Amino acid sequence: MTTRCITVLGATGSIGLSTLDVIRRHPGRFSVYALTAGTRARELATLCWEFRPKVAVMASERAADELRELLADCPDTQVLGGEAGLCAVAAASDADTVMAAIVGAAGLAPTLSAVRAGKRVLLANKEALVMSGQLFMDAVIASGSELLPIDSEHNAIFQCMPADKIRDPKAAGITRILLTASGGPFRTMAAEELRSVTPSQACAHPNWSMGQKISVDSATLMNKGLELIEACWLFNTTPDQVEVHVHPESIIHSMVEYADGSVLAQLGSPDMRTPIANGLAWPERIEAGVAPLDLFAIGKFHFERPDLQRFPCLRLAAEAFASGGTAPAVLNAANEVAVEAFLDGKLCFADIPVIIERTLAATPVVPASDFDTIFTKDAEARSRAREQISLLSV
Ligand code: NAD
Ligand code: MG
Repeated sequence: MTTRCITVLGATGSIGLSTLDVIRRHPGRFSVYALTAGTRARELATLCWEFRPKVAVMASERAADELRELLADCPDTQVLGGEAGLCAVAAASDADTVMAAIVGAAGLAPTLSAVRAGKRVLLANKEALVMSGQLFMDAVIASGSELLPIDSEHNAIFQCMPADKIRDPKAAGITRILLTASGGPFRTMAAEELRSVTPSQACAHPNWSMGQKISVDSATLMNKGLELIEACWLFNTTPDQVEVHVHPESIIHSMVEYADGSVLAQLGSPDMRTPIANGLAWPERIEAGVAPLDLFAIGKFHFERPDLQRFPCLRLAAEAFASGGTAPAVLNAANEVAVEAFLDGKLCFADIPVIIERTLAATPVVPASDFDTIFTKDAEARSRAREQISLLSV
């Protein structure tokens, strides 16, 4: 049994809490070095009392002050604040494994910090990889960091590939990756009805319980678009080798097709603790608290093609990836701004792709030559997306 010392970035979120649930089940195997959160100091304090990390980090100094007060009687835990603190714990030599589970672009700098320090990085934060693609993978290769996919689809693909050919699928005889998608809560809804859906309807995913942002992404199919890009970078492949299959039961988490006609699939109950446990213990297997699969109860599997007319976000993501350079970072930033506006009641659901498409058209693509260029484009795209939202609401 390999013991591991873990930092959980985004500990109060859906993935963070599932990670801590798996860790809790294996006290002799895992210890916690650091826990981090954005604004919810009270929730992080509760986790600190249970897991006694050496360091706890909040995204802002103000939130860190609040946490310091809450942990005044907890001498074990030092409290830091701000992005510098997040990056410091991600790289600290005390931990060997970092769960990257901050949502959105805010996760890029800390995740990259863990990569550069050569950690085992469990990647849930797909936006970090989508934004910076080649630069991110170059950093992984340069440091020798062990990047393991936590996104359920990518973890499934990883499990269906020979471990030594993850970055060379052709050499493994792989002809296609079949990326499954649930289709989200509006899979069968007519285009006109999509205009009036509410944030609470969009966040009520039929199979998975997730954070708000990824729930909306699943409803627009932007999540599948981000995952298509994520798959191309993780497995060093091209979009024509990846085919999205809508599979509403969310039991097959993805598949890999081989030259001899074999298709290998990974199945399981839709519970993120499976890919999380796989990443934490890999190559060993550990209990994760997941309900066993009852195929008799499920009975049937269905597959359909995604509808790019009603859900243009998947097309926009594929186009941004084909444009290359900073286009995926712009796509991601515009999506984050549009989703936030939708959740705040300031944008209708059907206008999310409209804002993204207009932001992409208004933001010139430049080569993604370094991370500074990525961060600058991210900021530029955010202000252009906000501009487009205000134009729509006039
Ligand atoms: P969530 O909203 O539930 O949690 C996000 C976490 O990030 C929280 O701990 C929050 O405090 C922290 N955070 C938010 N903004 C921050 C900031 N500016 N600085 C520092 N920390 C900040 O999100 P989630 O559903 O757990 O998703 C996390 C990541 O995992 C996302 O990138 C998502 O796409 C990916 N993912 C999630 C699931 C899932 O089932 N939830 C599945 C696959 C991939
Ligand atoms: Mg996924």
